[in-house]
Amino acid sequence: MSIEEVQPRIYRIPSILGRRRFAQWLVVGDERLLLVDSGIDGTIAEHVTPALAELGRSPADITDVVVSHADVDHYGGNSELRRLAPQALIRSSAQDRPWIESWQAISRDRYGWYRGHGLDYDEATWAWLENAAGPDTPLDGTVSDGELIDLGRIAVEVGGLPGHSPGHLGVVHNDSRTAIVMDAVLERGLYTTDDELISPPPYASVAAYRGTIDRLRELRPARLGTSHYAPIESEPAVTAFLDGSAGFVADLDAAVDAELGADPQPLEHYWRAADAALGPFEEMAVELARSVAAHLDNAVDEGRAVRTQDADGCGAWAAA
Ligand SMILES: [Zn+2]
Repeated sequence: MSIEEVQPRIYRIPSILGRRRFAQWLVVGDERLLLVDSGIDGTIAEHVTPALAELGRSPADITDVVVSHADVDHYGGNSELRRLAPQALIRSSAQDRPWIESWQAISRDRYGWYRGHGLDYDEATWAWLENAAGPDTPLDGTVSDGELIDLGRIAVEVGGLPGHSPGHLGVVHNDSRTAIVMDAVLERGLYTTDDELISPPPYASVAAYRGTIDRLRELRPARLGTSHYAPIESEPAVTAFLDGSAGFVADLDAAVDAELGADPQPLEHYWRAADAALGPFEEMAVELARSVAAHLDNAVDEGRAVRTQDADGCGAWAAA
C-alpha cells in the first residue's frame, strides 16, 4: 500500500491489521518529521519504512512521535523506533504514559480490567496483545492539550481528546482544519475492509467521550484522520461520523437503562444485553463491557442506578 498525501505535508500510511483498516499519520516539516503512532511491533519496518522511502526519507529522519493513546496497536512500534529513529522524541499524554511504558501495567489495568467482572479475552487474544505491544520502551516525555509542535513551514497543535482512553491525544493542523484523531471517536465500532461491523467502540468515561465528540463538532474540521477508517473527508461525512459516534453512545445508554431492574445484576448481564442490542460483535466483543460499565457508572452518578456487590465481590447494578 502506498503512502497517501491527504493535504500538503500531511500523509496517511495505510495498512491492514487482521481484518481491519489501519493507519499511522505523518506530518513533514522543513526541519522536523512528526509520526503519529507507531503501530504494533513490526509496523515501522513493514509499513512506515517503505512509506517514508516513497518520499525519499527514512525512519532516521523522524524527529517527533506522538503516541495517541495506550493501546498496543498505537505504541507497539516504539522499540523499533528507538532502534531505527534514535533521535526521535517519543511522547504521549501523562495519563496514558504508565500503560504505554509497561506491559505489566497495561495488561493488569487496561486489558485485565474485565477480570474483576469475571470476563476476559481468550488466550489467543492475550498472546496477540503481548506480541503486538513489543518490548517495554520508556518514553522521552509527555505532551498535552494546546501544545504547538513547529516542524518548520508547518505546525500542528496537540489536542486532548479523552474518553476512549484517559489521556487520548489528537494532532490538529489548524490551517487546513485537518484533525488527526486516531481512536478518539469510533462511530458505531470498527469495521472490516468489507465494511462489516465487527468490534465495539470501547470508552472508559461517558462524560469524557461525549465531551470529545462535542469538542470535535465545535472544531468543525474539514477532515478527520483516524487509525481504523478510510479518510473522512469534508461534509457531510465529518458530521455523519460524529453523529454516528454520538448515536452509539445514546443507543448504549438506552440499552443499559432498559436492563436496570429491581434485582442487582453483574456487568456480564448488561454486556450480553448490549451486545445483542447493538452488535453482535464477533471480534473483541468483551471490550463492549468497558463501555457498558462506563454507562452504569454514569447511571449511578446521575441517580438512576445503584451499585452493590455480588457474592464474589464483583460489582452488581440495579435501578435506583
Ligand atoms: Zn484504541
